[in-house]
Amino acid sequence: MKPWARKPERWWLLAWALGALLAATVLAQWRLGTLREAFDLDARIAHRLLSQRLAQHDAVLVTLTLYSAPADAAAADATLRQLYPQFLQVLRQPSEGLWPAAQWASAEARSRQTAQAQVLPLPASPGRYGLLRAGPQGTVALLIELSAAVPWAEWPLPRDTSPVQVTVWQGGQAWLLQPGQGGQGAWAFEVRKPLASESQAFGLQLQRQVGWAELPWAAMLAAALAWGGLLALWRTWRRQREQKSRAEELLRLGQVSRLNALGELAAGLAHELNQPLTAIVANTQAARRLLDEGEAEEDASAARQAMSQAVDQAHRAADVVARLRRTVARPEASDRMALDVAQAVQRTLHLLAPELARAEVQVQPDLPALQALAEPVALEQVIHNLLMNAVQALAQVPVPERRLDIQLHAEGPWAVLRIADSGPGFSEDTRRRLFEPFFSTKPEGMGLGLSLCETLLTRLDGRIEASHHAPRGAVFTIHLPLAPA
Ligand code: ADP
Repeated sequence: MKPWARKPERWWLLAWALGALLAATVLAQWRLGTLREAFDLDARIAHRLLSQRLAQHDAVLVTLTLYSAPADAAAADATLRQLYPQFLQVLRQPSEGLWPAAQWASAEARSRQTAQAQVLPLPASPGRYGLLRAGPQGTVALLIELSAAVPWAEWPLPRDTSPVQVTVWQGGQAWLLQPGQGGQGAWAFEVRKPLASESQAFGLQLQRQVGWAELPWAAMLAAALAWGGLLALWRTWRRQREQKSRAEELLRLGQVSRLNALGELAAGLAHELNQPLTAIVANTQAARRLLDEGEAEEDASAARQAMSQAVDQAHRAADVVARLRRTVARPEASDRMALDVAQAVQRTLHLLAPELARAEVQVQPDLPALQALAEPVALEQVIHNLLMNAVQALAQVPVPERRLDIQLHAEGPWAVLRIADSGPGFSEDTRRRLFEPFFSTKPEGMGLGLSLCETLLTRLDGRIEASHHAPRGAVFTIHLPLAPA
């Protein structure tokens, strides 16, 4: 297990990864949407332009069949081909002799029947087709080169560099108008639509592959970094706030502690002892004066009386001290309430998280919810003292051996909290003296922590014991009365 308070790191990482993924997905979707829109617009323009050209072919053919062939047909056709470079040849029947193939004759018959131009596929010349129409002045056929019909000047897609592939199909044949750059991609756009022409029943197909490289990687990276920065800021802010509240809480505990242990005692002592001490001073002064001044029997007996009064006052002072001690050791139980001990331990662990992390202590808490009768501040003070002692003890052993086991369980009428560390432990001699006030083995130690713990727990009708931890270390066990269910 990781040292206490290091686990949240993983949550931050997860939050960052999820946020970055979400931002990247949104940005990628947005880019794909934009590319799709542009593709659809290009497809609409291409469709309109090609449909217009096919309609033009029909119109030219109708015009040609309305008039008989001019005297200088060859010159007229040349002019026509200049205007329409897609027309490779103009064929007229019957003046030019037989049609090149039998199906031309049958197409002519169909055209005459339907009064519509007919397409003549030329399987040997891909991308070319014949368009034939029978009219009142004879039959005319145009040999058309499809790619020359594309108005490249107005074409929405750059012919050589565009990633869009454009195909025209008719029956089982497909003619590539524009190859399209780029190989296989992760996403494919496609539009298939018949061109708007009755005579030339062609279909138009546009395809585009979108590769990973086209995603907005720079924006995606920037979003991930920005999100990381935002999280880091938030984290710093939270950490600072936590540190501040932790410091305030520690200060409060410390203040309460000091007030408890010293302030009350000092104030009480001063108040209670003032009177007997004043009386002792007055009586002993009177006795000395009597002894100095007179030799009479009554002076001696008055001095004796003053002295015995001083003794009484001294006893009274001793009583005050004893009573004050009893007050500290056995104050009212009315401050007690039902408390979740597990929560109190968790709160204290949270307060000490920086110390525990710094010392790299492996904390193994086993803390089921358990209600005991206690006073909140006193309970936290006890737990705090015990955990601080454990951390200080653990600092004396190598890092990998620093373990702190905290267990809570019910045992008869008791809630039992066991705090076991793998520190150096103590000798049997030391163990017997642990709870004595001012007993300390630390150079800077006050030796009041454990004695205060014992005092507070006794006040709460509980108790504390210290024992050795196998194979090494110390165990402190606290018993507190369980709260009635
Ligand atoms: P202080 O911490 O000021 O010395 P305490 O009353 O808290 O006062 O502790 C008294 C003594 O008990 C310590 O000086 C130390 O020798 C011993 N002690 C307390 N806790 C532990 C522990 N977890 N492991 C070993 N010794 C301990």
